[in-house]
Amino acid sequence: MVYRLVIKPEQRQEQKIQLTSSQQHYLRRVLRLKEGDRFVAMDGVGKSWWAQIETTSACLLELIDISTELPVTVTLVTALPKGNAYDEVVRCCTELGVSILQPVISDRTLLKPSDRKLERWRRIATEAAEQAERQIVPTVLEPILFTAILAREIDAETDCYIGVARGDVPHLSNYLQHSVRNNILIATGPEGGWTKEEVERAIAVGYQPVSLGNRILRAITAPIVALSLVAGALEQAI
Ligand code: SAH
Repeated sequence: MVYRLVIKPEQRQEQKIQLTSSQQHYLRRVLRLKEGDRFVAMDGVGKSWWAQIETTSACLLELIDISTELPVTVTLVTALPKGNAYDEVVRCCTELGVSILQPVISDRTLLKPSDRKLERWRRIATEAAEQAERQIVPTVLEPILFTAILAREIDAETDCYIGVARGDVPHLSNYLQHSVRNNILIATGPEGGWTKEEVERAIAVGYQPVSLGNRILRAITAPIVALSLVAGALEQAI
């Protein structure tokens, strides 16, 4: 079993990392690792090293050459579901390879999130990235209004999609087969769905309305399915 820890830049000085007290506790008391034992230190933005435990620090031994990231950058714009349900979106989508999680407040969003939630989502993303052996920890952005997202200009390198649960629209997979862009953004609505105006506005600014299949998915399931379709279509087996 290999243990992974995300290390912040300020903890690192050349080959040495100062472990925080909670990391020391985790490595020594929870995992029962001893001085000299090894674990994987990740910087959360693409690099991992073998590291060896010293007293209250660790030393970096060598860079690990692994690739666990999707070939495209995926941003999930997700209307916040009720209660703590977004926790599950963060956890599952981190496992599946999301790069950016943008929670949004849409017309039918019921919840106004607190600042404490953002911290919690970021912690979940970090833990899930460690668990999934990823090289990066996805960025969880502060929740903003969906209208603010739609007001932004779409850059030329990004394909933007909006999931619509009903109606005759092409399946996301149809687009993915021909996709040549580096970035994909997929927006999915809350329990009550998008309003007609939100979908119309998104289409007007360049989003493609897409289906994720012939069943109505829950607000939590839709982003997970969207990301699985991206991984299935674009990730090559080695
Ligand atoms: N209550 C709504 C459905 C909301 S589902 C209704 O009955 O119509 C929540 C969100 O998940 C939707 O806004 C949509 O973005 C996404 N979604 C769910 N099922 C989908 C599907 N089959 N295709 C595309 N998007 C879907």
